Amino acid sequence: MVNVCDIQVMKPLLQEHGFHFSKAKGQNFLIAPWVPRSIAEDAGVDETAGVLEIGPGIGPLTQQLCLRAKKVCAVELDTRLKPILDITVGEFDNLEIVWNDVLKLDIPAFVEEKFGGLRPMACANLPYYITSPILTALLEADCFDSVTVMVQKEVAQRIAAAPGSADYSAFTVFCQYYAEPQLLFDVPAHCFMPQPKVTSAVIQLKVRKERSWGALDEDIFFRTVRASFAMRRKKLSNGLASGFPELGKTGAAEVIQAAGFDANVRGETLSIPEFVRIANEIVKRRG
Ligand code: SAM
Repeated sequence: MVNVCDIQVMKPLLQEHGFHFSKAKGQNFLIAPWVPRSIAEDAGVDETAGVLEIGPGIGPLTQQLCLRAKKVCAVELDTRLKPILDITVGEFDNLEIVWNDVLKLDIPAFVEEKFGGLRPMACANLPYYITSPILTALLEADCFDSVTVMVQKEVAQRIAAAPGSADYSAFTVFCQYYAEPQLLFDVPAHCFMPQPKVTSAVIQLKVRKERSWGALDEDIFFRTVRASFAMRRKKLSNGLASGFPELGKTGAAEVIQAAGFDANVRGETLSIPEFVRIANEIVKRRG
């Protein structure tokens, strides 16, 4: 197997094919072999798994996934990588490379078509410029057992944050509504070529089998969460009145009281079940 994390191997390979890194496509390739190995191992990839990899690049994580999974489908946007991937991962007959923009896929249909009967997982060293849209699509697809990804460390901390902390955000609530996050390990910038300006971290999101939060209307729930964080420094009633103009200030205050909270409560301190209580009061008022 070609050691794609070895700079002495990788540099001539890239040069031979006239490949230049594209910043716009978020191309920071792994050059530390322990990282792709740890991602595949910690993700729990085994012969029951069908793995969707996003952005194989020149294939360091792809190799590790193919060594463990029943099937791997790697979706890559940059077709300049084709001759290089032919060399680095061409030997694996459990791999299919799909040349597409992952954000253009119908993910549930794709997973059903490619991995029917297997345990679907998503694994990736994500292109950081589209971390949020990709994670949103993967979680909303609601078809994975787990999603294990490398992201910027500050994004990983935001995803795993607790209510009331500085990192807690609408994106935290979105991710934790669908999945249980676990921070796995940090990855320093020197593990990549070219080096990113930030530290990275690998996080696993174990997708909840049941979302038994009791939200009467998920759209209203997520609107409530966004409205609550839109005015972080202000009282929750201000955020709700602005996010749901039909409530007005009085209606927003009544919703908060009916849900059992103090009039001065701040949105950034609320847990998911508490947001559900507020959202359900709004749903009841809308009739
Ligand atoms: N997996 C490789 C590694 O760890 O070395 C490469 C990771 S690099 C951070 C991100 C990869 O995602 C690049 O290969 C890039 O071309 C690809 N990519 C960027 N945007 C994409 C998109 N919208 N859909 C699919 N792949 C994309």
